[in-house]
Amino acid sequence: MENCIFCKIIRKETKTDILYENNNILAFRDINPQAPVHILLIPKTHISTLNDLTGEERELIGDLILNASRLAEQEGIAKEGYRTGFNCNEAGGQTVYHIHLHLLGGRKLGWPPG
Ligand code: AMP
Repeated sequence: MENCIFCKIIRKETKTDILYENNNILAFRDINPQAPVHILLIPKTHISTLNDLTGEERELIGDLILNASRLAEQEGIAKEGYRTGFNCNEAGGQTVYHIHLHLLGGRKLGWPPG
């Protein structure tokens, strides 16, 4: 996707703090962190929203979640706890239309989110 900011990150066209990469996914620090640790995990294929999943992406979604837990360990927040989540569409707070799993931690997170 030509103008998708996360596709640009995948193509290494922007300066990004990349923490993990494999053939299918990429993890990097959020540019506007909402917690001391705020990491985004994205698939390398462009999928706009969770509503666009077809059922063929089970392994890919598993890869995102598994690596979120690994990064939580690496960042030292696994034991105290953290939050992961996908936002979907406007009411869900989605602003970048390339699916991404947020990993947030390093402070006490409120519930429910605002
Ligand atoms: P969402 O609101 O769920 O769509 O989350 C999009 C996230 O992407 C926000 O937390 C933004 O701060 C983050 N973001 C947008 N552009 C960049 C970028 N170039 N590098 C890192 N994070 C970004």
